[in-house]
Amino acid sequence: MKTRLLLTFLAGLVVSVPAMAQQTLDAMIDREMAALVSTYKMLHAAPELSHREEKTSAFLAAQLRALGFTVTERVGRYERPEWISYGVVAVMKNGAGPTVLVRTELDALPVEEKTGLPYASTVKTKNDANQEVSVMHACGHDVHITSFLGTAKMLAATKEQWRGTLVMIGQPAEETVDGARAMLADGLYTRFPKPDFALALHDSAEVEAGKVTYFPGYAMASSTSVDLVIRGLGGHGARPETTKDPVVIAAQVVLALQTIVSRENSPLDPAVLTIGSIHGGTKRNIIPDEVTLLLTIRTYKEEVRQHILASIERIAKNLALAAGVPADRAPTLKIIESEIAPSTFNDPDLTERIAAAIARTIGRDNVVKAQPLMVSEDFGRLSLDHQIPAFMFWLGTIDPARVEASRKSGKPLPSLHSSLFEPLPEPTLRAGIKAMTGAVLELMKK
Ligand SMILES: [Zn+2]
Ligand SMILES: [Zn+2]
Repeated sequence: MKTRLLLTFLAGLVVSVPAMAQQTLDAMIDREMAALVSTYKMLHAAPELSHREEKTSAFLAAQLRALGFTVTERVGRYERPEWISYGVVAVMKNGAGPTVLVRTELDALPVEEKTGLPYASTVKTKNDANQEVSVMHACGHDVHITSFLGTAKMLAATKEQWRGTLVMIGQPAEETVDGARAMLADGLYTRFPKPDFALALHDSAEVEAGKVTYFPGYAMASSTSVDLVIRGLGGHGARPETTKDPVVIAAQVVLALQTIVSRENSPLDPAVLTIGSIHGGTKRNIIPDEVTLLLTIRTYKEEVRQHILASIERIAKNLALAAGVPADRAPTLKIIESEIAPSTFNDPDLTERIAAAIARTIGRDNVVKAQPLMVSEDFGRLSLDHQIPAFMFWLGTIDPARVEASRKSGKPLPSLHSSLFEPLPEPTLRAGIKAMTGAVLELMKK
């Protein structure tokens, strides 16, 4: 009888320790929530463009320092030396154990906010081309920063529950996909502890606040920017026989390039080739010398990306040749290196492990497997080509009543990057902090 009582008591203990930790976490988040919501609104009203995250990074660094992290600012080196990298690296060592990296982005977008919220951004600034632009956290990186700070606070306050080295980074220039590369180039993994795991979240403009969605494996595509210049021989619009018209060749190239994905690529390997811009000529009766096409290519697998690039070159060169353009005026293909983003590959084992841990913190019904996407991110770069297991999950942000109304009416909700994107702060932040804290504790718990 005594043994049975003892066993019952012990069994109760096993169940109640995580439950108690969960209660403590909930109570701590409750206490911090009002302050976190005002931090969110403050960040939302003060967005900064990519490569200019000066005040955001200084705020983040000060907050992390106050929590006891060792903080280094201005980590990163861009290809353009005149740009300052506002990367923040905050390290908290807490005994022997795994090194876990958590990343937030810092930058906002040149979008004029039209939500009409009391804390809407009215910020205007000059862009790199010296044009005045409005600025908005239209990708919700303010949600990420606030969730990240809340997570840092929870982990700093519960150091007795975990061990290892926590590396929390504020990454600049995600929207221009050169921030992660800049931080790595400046010794993110040599000057600071190299992680065993990398974690991030991104808000979703479709999912209800309070929920998390995820996908194991390839979750977002790589992105490659290509400038393709079709060169001909210009002349009078009324004397085409004396020219090699690059407008006609460009028109053929636009159509022919669409056969790469549809005819050359396996339908089981997702790929997109979009020509988003085509420019050539100045006047209707002049055949121009060249036409410029701006392309974006999205793939999951590197070999698919390489195949598409080779095919673009082959098709463009041969169509120009067929039109009689001399070899020394063959089309040129330029890959914009600074705009390349690798695909986001969620390590399947890590993904399932963390998704289960998140389900324990926010409820099983609130964690849902979603579809992968063809949009891109530079978080994948931090995994060093899949060497470091990485996982990014989607955080719901939208008022559930609005999601329901959109479902009923069939009218889509404003997407990310929209001037009308409107996260619901409190339940979003609560789920974001609980999910990320739960994820880190799963990897670092004692
Ligand atoms: Zn974005
Ligand atoms: Zn984003």
